[in-house]
Amino acid sequence: MKYKLETIPVWDAFKEDTECPICYLEEKAEERYLNFYLGSSVMNPETRVQVNQRGFCPDHFSGLLSMRSNHGLGLMTHTHLEKRMELLSPFLKNLRTEASRVAGKGALIKPRKLSAAISELEKHLSGLEESCMICDRIEYTLKRYTFTIVHLWKTEGEFREFFRNSRGFCYHHLPGLIAMAEEVLSPGKLGEFIEDVTALIESGNERLEKEILWFTQKFDSQNFDKPWGTSEDAHYRTIQKLTGRSNRKIKK
Ligand SMILES: [Zn+2]
Ligand SMILES: [Zn+2]
Repeated sequence: MKYKLETIPVWDAFKEDTECPICYLEEKAEERYLNFYLGSSVMNPETRVQVNQRGFCPDHFSGLLSMRSNHGLGLMTHTHLEKRMELLSPFLKNLRTEASRVAGKGALIKPRKLSAAISELEKHLSGLEESCMICDRIEYTLKRYTFTIVHLWKTEGEFREFFRNSRGFCYHHLPGLIAMAEEVLSPGKLGEFIEDVTALIESGNERLEKEILWFTQKFDSQNFDKPWGTSEDAHYRTIQKLTGRSNRKIKK
């Protein structure tokens, strides 16, 4: 698959010197899409139809709520609710029909059709619960970014040096980056890329382990007056490294 190059945002993300440039890129993309769905685009009929049908995951509905654009969000959730009511209606109807067959009667055997209707309702609702326009767009955008990282590593010596001296990547984004390299690099280049990445992950882990250790030791009374060094926010950066949750989501 061919992806579009996103050279400038990728360079910018590496220059930010965070625990994971892909987390940084994801955070920026998320901000853009949250703004997009609360902006004028939401009145665009095509976008509206998609939002009505798909909606957002709990995290991104929270993100939209936190932007305090109540009128836009109200309009959007109103038509989304209408669509969801329409989609839910046949499941409720079926459930009610099966329930009325047994309601108040003394049947001893578990009603098979009622159990099936309960399970269909559960499947319908849980299937839509994680459906999210923003998650899907972020996933696609991150593919373009990881493609660009691998491409720049392959073609630009200056970027490769920057890459080798960076803090590495979080555990959440690492598999996607390696999978992209596997998809687009020749075996020889893939071998070199993986050598670089594994060295980077190991050196990043060792650095962070020392930082978080000093963070814990700073709480000993004998260390109160000693300098923090780079450890003052080591607990946040360790969580980010382990989970891929960006700084915005684990705010101090
Ligand atoms: Zn990450
Ligand atoms: Zn989402």
